[in-house]
Amino acid sequence: MFFINRNNNNAAGMSVGLMGGTFDPIHMGHLVTAEEARQQFDLNYVVFVPTGMPPHKDGEQVTLPEHRYLMTTLAVMSNPSFYVSSVEMDSEGPAYTIDTVRHFSFGEKEIPELFFITGADAILDIFTWKDYEELLRLCTFIAVSRPGYSLEKFRETLDKHCPGMKHKVHLLEIPALAVSSTFIRERVALGKTIKYLTPEPVEQYIKKHGLYVPTG
Ligand code: NAP
Repeated sequence: MFFINRNNNNAAGMSVGLMGGTFDPIHMGHLVTAEEARQQFDLNYVVFVPTGMPPHKDGEQVTLPEHRYLMTTLAVMSNPSFYVSSVEMDSEGPAYTIDTVRHFSFGEKEIPELFFITGADAILDIFTWKDYEELLRLCTFIAVSRPGYSLEKFRETLDKHCPGMKHKVHLLEIPALAVSSTFIRERVALGKTIKYLTPEPVEQYIKKHGLYVPTG
C-alpha cells in the first residue's frame, strides 16, 4: 500500500506519477514506460494503480483484481521509486479515475503535482470519463504510445471541449510497448513462453495460478 504522510509538508513540492491500467498482466512495456516517465517528467514516485472493476469494461472478462494487484507488486519490487496502490480495488463498485486522483490530491494544502500515465488509446476517450474537466484541472496526462502514433486529432478535440487545456496532455513514445497484455495472454493460452516479456516473478505467478489458460 502506498501512502504519503499527510502531515509532511514536503508533499507540496513533490511530483507523483499515477500509472493507471488494468495490468492483466503487467509487462516489461509498462515498467519501461513508468521509468521513462519518471525520468522525463522528474517524478519523485510512480504509483501503479491497477483498476478494480473497470467502469468501461462492464461484462468483459478481466482477471480478479487480487491477482493483478499481486502481479504488479511483484513486478515493481526492485525499483525504489515504484509503489502500488490498491485504492481502485478497494472501492466498491466501478472505480473512476477522478476518485483516484482526488484520493492522491490530499485536500487543499500539501498537494503534490500529479501526472496520470496511461495508454494513449485509453486517453482518446477521456471525454466520456466521469468529471473529465475537473480531472484535467487536477492532473497532467501522459499518453503513452508506440512510436508513430499521432495525438494531433485528439489535441484538436481537446481544445474544442476544454479550451486552454492542450498543455495538460503529453505524448510519450515507448518502443518497448510493442509488448502488450493481450499478446502475453494469447501466448500463455497457446502454451508459448513469456520469458523476458514480463519479470520472472510475474511469469512464475501466472504459471502457479494457471492464469490465462483456457478452461474446458
Ligand atoms: P485499456 O483499454 O485496457 O488499454 C488501452 C491501451 O493502452 C492498450 O494498448 C494498453 O496496453 C495500453 N495501456 C493501458 N494502460 C497503460 C499504461 N499504464 N501504460 C502503457 N500502456 C497502457 O485501458 P485500461 O487499462 O482499461 O484503462 C487505462 C486507465 O484509464 C485505467 O487507469 C482506467 O481506470 C482509466 N480509465 C478511466 C475511465 C473513467 O474514469 N471513466 C474510463 C476509461 C479508462 P496493455 O493492454 O498492454 O496494458
